[in-house]
Amino acid sequence: MSRIDTLLSAFPRAKLLSQPTPLERLDRLSEELELDLWIKRDDLTGLSFGGNKTRQLEFYIGAAHAARADTILITGAVQSNFARTAAAAASKYGMQAVLQREERVPGMDPLYYSSGNVFLSDILGAETMSYPEGEDEAGADAALAARAAELRAAGRTPYVIPLGPGHPPLGALGYVQGGAELAAQIGCFDAAVVPSGSGATHGGFLNGVRLAGITAPVFGICVRRDARQQKARLERVTAELARLMGIPRPFAGGEILTWDGALAPGYGRAGPATRAALQRMAANEGILLDPVYSAKTFAGLLGLLEEGAISKGQKVLLLHTGGLPALFAYQNALGFGEGRAAP
Ligand SMILES: *Cc1c(COP(=O)(O)O)cnc(C)c1O
Repeated sequence: MSRIDTLLSAFPRAKLLSQPTPLERLDRLSEELELDLWIKRDDLTGLSFGGNKTRQLEFYIGAAHAARADTILITGAVQSNFARTAAAAASKYGMQAVLQREERVPGMDPLYYSSGNVFLSDILGAETMSYPEGEDEAGADAALAARAAELRAAGRTPYVIPLGPGHPPLGALGYVQGGAELAAQIGCFDAAVVPSGSGATHGGFLNGVRLAGITAPVFGICVRRDARQQKARLERVTAELARLMGIPRPFAGGEILTWDGALAPGYGRAGPATRAALQRMAANEGILLDPVYSAKTFAGLLGLLEEGAISKGQKVLLLHTGGLPALFAYQNALGFGEGRAAP
């Protein structure tokens, strides 16, 4: 067993993934951008349209299962991929899912509230509740904890999946494994570009590739907070991760790189650079990105190239984290909804 496998074997884990996910070269974009560009297809993790949360959930569902939970509770944006994937994982392990939908993106049209991940979570049989605030992590966690207490009082065994800092970042373990999986596939690279939201993916991935001996820069593209706030969050998440794994953090603080040039106009909203990136990937490679995370991440790669943080000729890895159901919920927001009624 590798050192990483040994470290991870200390944690209960539920089998959810189809792995390894494919690593593919983007030939046409490589030529156009004068890069050696590769994409790790974590949109193809398998469960209910896939995405990065499947890796994270292997450890949360593992812990819930070990605790003999019959219900899992999770909070997120209305179009949360985590909630949808958690609902699928709960079904697979015979548990009820309770999803709390936070109002993080006000002013969206009706599709946002009915299509995409909302629709899929309903099919998956999840129970839902809503939280009127979008930027109140502590309040959202408290509302979920209150629901868990009600369930416990009714004789159920709930397990809450906490996303804010201050909890052991079990989900990041999934990307320690994911980073190691990629390292075994790709050997080496000059730079990696990954999304940075809760930080579980970015922090876990950085940890995983460093433990696998790769020293290349890993750029975290901000999808929710500015670069300074996100770096502080990553400091915390990666310190908690090292503590959880019982090892020293395998990199210095200066190796936490965050870039927020594609964040505007904010979480859950696609600006012109993000829309252009989404269409460019689709038109050149036939690969679909989502408007909230993966298209922003590709827009970040293009921005870093323009700024010279990534140079021509380099071998660059883009992590595709999925999120594709949101495309349908964002059809109008992306400008593909008007005037398309049947003739
Ligand atoms: C949640 C999500 C992210 C962000 O991952 P974190 O681990 O929260 O930083 C990126 N891409 C997609 C598609 C997601 O659903």
